[in-house]
Amino acid sequence: MVKFKENTMKSITQILTKPNPLIANSLLQNLFSRSHPKHSSSSTSIRSISSSSSAYNYTQLESVPKESVDCVVIGAGVVGIAVARELSLKHGREVLVVESGPTFGTGTSSRNSEVIHAGIYYPFNSLKALFCVRGRKLLYRYCKEHEIPHEQMGKLIVATRSSEIPKLDALLNRGIENGVDGLRLMEGYEAMKLEPELHCVKALLSPASGIIDTHSLMLSLVGEAESHGTTFSYNASVIGGHREGNKIQLHISESSALKSWGASSPLHPELILNPKLVVNSAGLSAPSLARRFCGLDSGVIPTPYYARGCYFTLSNVKTPLFHHLIYPMPEDGGLGVHVTLDLNGQVKFGPDVEWIDCIDDISSFLNLFDYSVCKDRSKRFYPEIRKYYPNLKDGSLEPGYSGIRPKVSGPKQVPADFLVQGEDIHGITGLVNLFGIESPGLTASMAIAEYVAAKLITN
Ligand SMILES: Cc1cc2nc3c(=O)[nH]c(=O)nc-3n(C[C@H](O)[C@H](O)[C@H](O)COP(=O)(O)OP(=O)(O)OC[C@H]3O[C@@H](n4cnc5c(N)ncnc54)[C@H](O)[C@@H]3O)c2cc1C
Repeated sequence: MVKFKENTMKSITQILTKPNPLIANSLLQNLFSRSHPKHSSSSTSIRSISSSSSAYNYTQLESVPKESVDCVVIGAGVVGIAVARELSLKHGREVLVVESGPTFGTGTSSRNSEVIHAGIYYPFNSLKALFCVRGRKLLYRYCKEHEIPHEQMGKLIVATRSSEIPKLDALLNRGIENGVDGLRLMEGYEAMKLEPELHCVKALLSPASGIIDTHSLMLSLVGEAESHGTTFSYNASVIGGHREGNKIQLHISESSALKSWGASSPLHPELILNPKLVVNSAGLSAPSLARRFCGLDSGVIPTPYYARGCYFTLSNVKTPLFHHLIYPMPEDGGLGVHVTLDLNGQVKFGPDVEWIDCIDDISSFLNLFDYSVCKDRSKRFYPEIRKYYPNLKDGSLEPGYSGIRPKVSGPKQVPADFLVQGEDIHGITGLVNLFGIESPGLTASMAIAEYVAAKLITN
């Protein structure tokens, strides 16, 4: 994974230099067309400012150009894109997607397992369960209708010792409760007949699980959104906001200005957007961004936690090793080091769980998280994988890529549900904050979009 095709590369500068139904103000064209002489260095290192620091003075906002827009979606990950498509295509709204990166999908949406989950793991009636089951159906239908590469190959969750069998039974019951069709417990020998390289004592077959080419999905959703009134503005960051009456106004800056910003000087927005509707789908940054919305009750914003997951690939394997996704029992913080396959049959193992520290707000908006995969971590992978794939050869694992889970519950805590906070929670009209959209967020993306649009559009 981690492939960014810069196909729809448009910065807010480019958007503002051509006539645009959303933002056609010549003042703003001048603003974003001009160079930024005071931001001339190009340092992108992580700055040591506290995440709660108010980096600019709100009394200085009067001189900042303002523009009214219909809807703003913050973040062009798979969830933000799906929301933008839903609002523009299904509800006829004009949407501006503000994305700090140079194109769509450069965050967690390109750093995951690309698995279409069935909906087995999540507590009954949780948003994760509801959105996963609904989202999966919407996703398969969308893939078929739009020829998005995908494969419903099914998955085996495996018990590798008899002490794990009760957990497998519990997963079966939970899956049935959540409305997952086709689940079937198998004896070890049956599963091993399906998968000759597998070792297990019992398995749960989930025929509804599959894989998807996430980039093609996002590309297709972006195309549909764009042709129905959505504008994507790349290299533009939301750096904060403030409450005006019962609405939120957003403070925008070009990402290049953030990159070269030294924490010693004040950080000023270059534009203030006055939207009717706002969806904060900034992924890993969503909680820290919400804390920068002056006038939003910070008591409702969850503490973010970050859990990195690394993947290792298998070198020198010619024939497809497995034909199903293979998952061990879930662990604290993740689903266990599992086998995923890409659409070419290549095997990858992961992700593990490593709780990492937060970084400062601006660095997180610029996605300066540490995604490096240390070769040494493979030492932990070998014994985990050999529980279900005993023939794994020494030295065969190569570092792949990593992703970071945007969590709102920490180590050893009960896993939190997705948080979708609207006016009923925070009291601000037209604002939805999406927090903790970790797995199964990709699977759930179209269902989240439906739900968010319904929450925002009441008549
Ligand atoms: C290791 C791992 C494995 C996973 N595996 C699966 C799986 O197999 N199946 C599944 O269904 N789900 C999986 N997930 C979950 C799934 O990847 C996420 O839920 C989903 O990608 C979240 O999408 P998003 O749009 O909310 O966030 P993101 O993709 O992170 O998008 C957020 C966007 O906001 C932008 N942004 C941030 N701050 C700002 C700002 N201030 N201004 C403007 N833009 C900003 C970022 O640049 C980014 O592009 C996995 C996650 C991880 C970490």
